[in-house]
Amino acid sequence: MGKHLIVVSIDALVYEDLEYARTLPNFAKIMENASIIERVKTVYPSLTHPVHSAIMTGCPTGKTGIISNMIFDPNDPTARPAPWFNDLSDIKCDTILHAAKRAGLTTAASSWPLTVGGGEVIDYLVPGLMNYYFDGREDNVLEVYREMGASDAVMDIIEEGISHFGYRDEHPDIDRFQIFCASEIIRRYKPNLLLTHPSYVDNRRHATGVFGEGVRLALDETDIMLGSLIAACEDAGIYEETDFILLSDHGHINITRVVSPNVYLKDNGLIEVDDDGDLMSYEAYVSSGGASARVYLSRPEDGELNMRVYNLLMDMAEEGIYGFERVFTKEETERLYGLTGDFSFVLEGDGYTSFGEHLERPSVRGYDLGDYRFGKGTHGHMPEKGPQPVFIASGPSFEKGVIIPEGSILNHAPTMAQVLGVFLPDADGEPVYDIIKP
Ligand SMILES: [Zn+2]
Repeated sequence: MGKHLIVVSIDALVYEDLEYARTLPNFAKIMENASIIERVKTVYPSLTHPVHSAIMTGCPTGKTGIISNMIFDPNDPTARPAPWFNDLSDIKCDTILHAAKRAGLTTAASSWPLTVGGGEVIDYLVPGLMNYYFDGREDNVLEVYREMGASDAVMDIIEEGISHFGYRDEHPDIDRFQIFCASEIIRRYKPNLLLTHPSYVDNRRHATGVFGEGVRLALDETDIMLGSLIAACEDAGIYEETDFILLSDHGHINITRVVSPNVYLKDNGLIEVDDDGDLMSYEAYVSSGGASARVYLSRPEDGELNMRVYNLLMDMAEEGIYGFERVFTKEETERLYGLTGDFSFVLEGDGYTSFGEHLERPSVRGYDLGDYRFGKGTHGHMPEKGPQPVFIASGPSFEKGVIIPEGSILNHAPTMAQVLGVFLPDADGEPVYDIIKP
């Protein structure tokens, strides 16, 4: 049984990528004897931080509380930058990191989502920080890392990583930075559980489309990163006893336009703006989650307002030109996907539209590569749509060569717990025993 588990979340890796990935040396080395779940059903919305909360806990987004990437502020919904759900304490369920720590194992995370402030359960923590954390603090980025929970034991590694790759959340430098840190942590501390999250594949899908020309380049680069992790295990003398899991969080869909439904809510008297076009008040507001969106009401308990907005949205969905094909009530998303929260409705895109939050016309716009939600490829859509994420497990704890066509992302954390010999009693998912050695 493996004493070390390295989990690499290759953001937005999909089944269709594996044919090419197998031709690359380090993917091949891991995949050669791996067991693979080819298509994994993710959670709704299919956004990075909600999905990672599910990967860490085995619970759907309504239970983890991570219902979007960015936190909706009902008192100031247009304030930017909107903070992200990114603290470990934002997750309302038990995580694999907590379970491992309780069992006395050593834990590490390098730029893994939702780990800020997680120093009590993560022994070697390099928190994943978006650019806004450094606003006005550009002269003292190490202090920002320290404040966000970076472990004393890794501060010199972070410092060296920044000297090579900078600190900005830009690809592929941020990916190279985190893999550098993860590799040094492996060499120096040999943690029992290490989580890391290179996102260059996702970044190139946003920029060039689902199967755009940038994706292979990103896979090439990711292969080099896997090589760095493998080399670190070999240097540390733990390669033979290390289990690797390569997983991903969501696929992408190609989009051709960005629609801002708030413009139509304003037309219908549900949003008020001042002479500058800035928000004054709202009764209903659409908060974008890429290819889906949540609708917030100022008075969610007001049955009349609820009905008025629902009927308007249903009429718009039926007309078919406003970018969304379905309107879910909160009760429906809870029943179908375990998604609930302080919103009232969810709009599901039509498969080629992403949602914006503009209040002024034009209500329909083109790409904006400056925002991940509005690239040529995006996500946030219902988990059934588009290319699907994968799960690849290799090492002494796993069976060799078992292929499972379909699975659930809620099984990831219980599977990790089983391999580590730790307990995650609150998870909704179950270990995938078919790929684990007895
Ligand atoms: Zn992602």
